[in-house]
Amino acid sequence: MDEEIYICPACGYTDGTSIVPEHCPQCLSSYHEVDEDDNACGGIFEPISIWIEETKRGRHKHIIQRCEFCGALQTSEITGYDNPVKLLSVAAKPIGNPPFPVERMEELTMLMGGQGSTEGYYEE
Ligand SMILES: [Zn+2]
Ligand SMILES: [Zn+2]
Repeated sequence: MDEEIYICPACGYTDGTSIVPEHCPQCLSSYHEVDEDDNACGGIFEPISIWIEETKRGRHKHIIQRCEFCGALQTSEITGYDNPVKLLSVAAKPIGNPPFPVERMEELTMLMGGQGSTEGYYEE
């Protein structure tokens, strides 16, 4: 067996298995392998905000990530394994200082299906 062990490209976290998580539970980053046009990117998706999705079945918490290289945006659902301290630090980023360019707001809104809010992480 020649299994490759997953190691987070951003912080070096590993749980010793080859299972690649949707995002690193330690630093909440992901690896951007290829972009929309199938070009290799190799950037790191950094967590920039938390998005609470309200659905009929309940609340889903997602991390909004932005690629540090190409600026692509994606969302990734938060799991029970994620580092709570890191989640709070991402959620607490000042709103007056948008971590993403304003011209990308439209793209972000589309990503959210035209609804939802990046605020209210502390609400229960
Ligand atoms: Zn990591
Ligand atoms: Zn990228």
